[in-house]
Amino acid sequence: MSSFSIVDLIVAKREGRVLSDEAITWLLDSYVAGTVADEQISALLMAIFFRGLNGAELGTWTDTMIASGERLDLRGLSRPSVDKHSTGGVGDKISLILAPLVAACGAAVPQLSGRGLGHTGGTLDKLEAIPGWRARLSNDEIVAQLEEVGAVICAAGDGLAPADRKLYALRDVTGTVESIPLISSSIMSKKIAEGTNALVLDVKVGRGAFMKEYDRAAELARTMVGLGTRHGVATVAQLTAMDQPLGRACGNAIEVLESIDVLRGRGPADVRDLTIALARTMLELVGIDVDPAPMLDNGRAYEVYCAMIAAQGGDPTAELPLGVVRDVVTADRSGVAQVVDAYDVGIAAWRLGAGRARKEDAVSAGAGLHCLVRVGDHVEAGQPLFELFADTEEQLAFGRSALATAVELGDEDVAAAPLLLEQVR
Ligand code: URA
Repeated sequence: MSSFSIVDLIVAKREGRVLSDEAITWLLDSYVAGTVADEQISALLMAIFFRGLNGAELGTWTDTMIASGERLDLRGLSRPSVDKHSTGGVGDKISLILAPLVAACGAAVPQLSGRGLGHTGGTLDKLEAIPGWRARLSNDEIVAQLEEVGAVICAAGDGLAPADRKLYALRDVTGTVESIPLISSSIMSKKIAEGTNALVLDVKVGRGAFMKEYDRAAELARTMVGLGTRHGVATVAQLTAMDQPLGRACGNAIEVLESIDVLRGRGPADVRDLTIALARTMLELVGIDVDPAPMLDNGRAYEVYCAMIAAQGGDPTAELPLGVVRDVVTADRSGVAQVVDAYDVGIAAWRLGAGRARKEDAVSAGAGLHCLVRVGDHVEAGQPLFELFADTEEQLAFGRSALATAVELGDEDVAAAPLLLEQVR
C-alpha cells in the first residue's frame, strides 16, 4: 500500500487541492486500522467541510467506505429489493408503514435503520416500544425474513461500512455533520453495502430538516442519486417539505399507534399520501405494476406488518405504553396557524423523553405528543394545540417549555406548502 503523510493531505485539502484516489484510500484505510489519529481526521473533515470534495474524490471516498466492511448479498431473493431512506424529520414514521406496504405489493424491502439523535426520532426506537421486538438480526436472518415476509426493519450490523461508524461519531462531536459530500457518502455507503437493487431517498427540507434551504437539499439529493446510479443502484430522490410535523403523533409508541392506523386504512392524510407516493416510486423502480393504495384499505399491508413484527419477536397486537403524566397546551388567542414549527415540536418530543442527547442514553417508549393543529387551521382561544405524554413531571415541564413558540397564530388565511416537492432522477 502506498504511504502518505496525513499532515500533507490535511494541508492539501485545507488549501483546496484535489486528493488523489490513492491518498483517499490510504487515509480512510489507515483511520479504520487505527494508524491515523482522531484529531488528524477531525482536521481533515473540517477542511472537507469548507473545501468540499469533487466528483472523483467523492466517488473514491464512498467506494473506500463501502470496501471497509462486508456487503449483504440479496441476489438470491426471489423478489426484487428496494429500500427507502429518509434524511430525517419530525413525526416521520413512514418506514413503519412503507416497508410492509411495498412488500405486500411484491417487493423485498431491507430497511436497515438507525436510532434517533437530537430532534429527529429513530425508527428503531419507535419499534422497540413493541414488547419483545428485536432490532438486531444476523445477515442470514435478514435474508430469510426478506424471503418469507418481504420486509425487515432492523439495525445495520457492525460489519456494514465500519468506516462510516467511526467517521460519523467524529463528525457528531466536531461540527462537521452538515457537509453535502460527507452526508451523502455516509448515507450511500451504507445503502450500497446493504445490497439493495433500488433506492428511494426522501430528502427533507425545511424548519425540521437537516437541510433548511431548498438549494442545499436539492444539491444533496443530486449528489446521492449520482452515487447510487454510479454503483448500479437505481436511485430516485424525492424532496419533501418538513416545515410542520408529519402526521399528528411524535414520539415512540405514539408513532407506532399512528402507523397502525394508516396501515388499517385510516390515519392522517399527509402520512398516507406521502407513503403512497414513495411506494409508487419504489415499485416503479423495480418494475412492479401494482397500485399500493388499496393494500392499505384491504388489510394486506397490515397483515405483512404483523408478520414482520412477529418474525422479530414482537407482539403486533400488544397494548403499547403511553406516558401517564399528561397535559395539554392551549392557544392563548384565536387566529389562524401561520407556522407549526417542526423543529420546536421535535425538540419537545425529545425533552418529553422520546429522544436521547447522547448515543448511550435510553429513550422512553411512552413519551411523546399529539400535534392537534396544522398550518392554516382556525383555532379559538383556549383550544388544545398539543397533548403531551411523559413519565415524569420534570420531563413534562421541559416539553411544555419547548412548545412555547412552536405555533404562530395570526389573522391571515394561509395554506400549507405542498408536501411533495421536486423529484431528482
Ligand atoms: N444520516 C447518516 O447516516 N449520515 C449522515 O451523515 C447524516 C444523516
